[in-house]
Amino acid sequence: MGKKDAVENVIIIGSGPAGWTAAIYAARANLHPLVFAGRPKSAPTTILPGGQLMMTTEVENYPGFPEGITGPKMMACFEQQAVRFGTRIVTDKGFAPDVSDPDDGHMYAYHDCKRVDLSKKPFTVIGEDDEEYRARALIISTGATANWLGLENERRLAQSGGGVSACAVCDGALPIFRDKVLAVVGGGDSAVEEGTYLTKFASKVLMIHRRDKLRASKIMAQRAMDNPKIEILWNRVVIDVLGDNMISGIRVQDTQSGAESEIEVGGLFAAIGHTPATDFLEGQLALDEKGYIKLADEYGSTTSVEGVFAAGDVVDSVYRQAVTAAGMGCKAAIDAERWLAEQGIE
Ligand code: NAP
Repeated sequence: MGKKDAVENVIIIGSGPAGWTAAIYAARANLHPLVFAGRPKSAPTTILPGGQLMMTTEVENYPGFPEGITGPKMMACFEQQAVRFGTRIVTDKGFAPDVSDPDDGHMYAYHDCKRVDLSKKPFTVIGEDDEEYRARALIISTGATANWLGLENERRLAQSGGGVSACAVCDGALPIFRDKVLAVVGGGDSAVEEGTYLTKFASKVLMIHRRDKLRASKIMAQRAMDNPKIEILWNRVVIDVLGDNMISGIRVQDTQSGAESEIEVGGLFAAIGHTPATDFLEGQLALDEKGYIKLADEYGSTTSVEGVFAAGDVVDSVYRQAVTAAGMGCKAAIDAERWLAEQGIE
């Protein structure tokens, strides 16, 4: 099963909201999808599969969960639903021995897809153990990784829910950030958008930018400068995050004078861009200048290679939400199903 001689109908690479949703739809269409449940690239120390939600504590903006739900629990629920309809998962133990339990967590470790060969059909997908799998259709939903500053305490507090995040829209409304001074690092459109969003909850937002000019579009930059709750700290980089269980402040350095100072903050949001997980494609699909997969049809999921579909943050540098990724996963599965039907595979 799933080895050299078998040809899968559809292999889904990626196990975030887009991948699991694609699996739910493909499984319900009797396509018996196979999912590569890869490593969350934002959390290189974990062995658990899943996407960026594995790094998220409370998810409060996904419809249907009025009380909120933790990111890992939500992903386990997605997975259970996909498996219920016949999805199979490639893991460290071959095929998943047990489906993950939303309360007890994942039952297996990740298994990344190392390489693909899209030059001939059926496509070949090579796992990190060099095992080869073949598929008539592929759905790529490998996501993108939020870029972090790379500071030790930043990562620790981000993983423990200690007030450090790379997504203000996901986490900013949490009670821990209410009426606090919050810092946003970055000078692009995301930093402005996230900073503006945070002003709804924060007593003040400090935008910390390493240069003296914002990268954000003019209109967005003006929005930040006009907002009385936003103060921009120019030419400053964050060199340390302070606090044990909860962030208490940051140490910043002036890039001009080299002077260092500490600022008390109740939250830190990195908004310094994302990196799409497309390296493993080795240039076989058309990508945009930032490395995101280019869709052939902007309303669908088709790519530059017929039979290869893409969904979620790996194609989306703008919205990047669990709910938008899930919607795209649904579209990719429907597109794959229709394409397979056109090839005579029901
Ligand atoms: P971005 O445009 O690449 O901006 C990243 C920002 O982070 C830059 O200001 C950069 O500084 C800074 N930065 C990068 N690495 C850093 C580091 N190690 N330390 C400190 N600062 C660092 O990324 P983005 O803001 O996420 O936007 C991505 C794309 O989505 C853009 O095309 C953007 O226009 C779009 N977007 C649009 C909207 C909207 O229109 N509503 C909202 C969000 C995003 P430098 O400026 O010095 O390079």
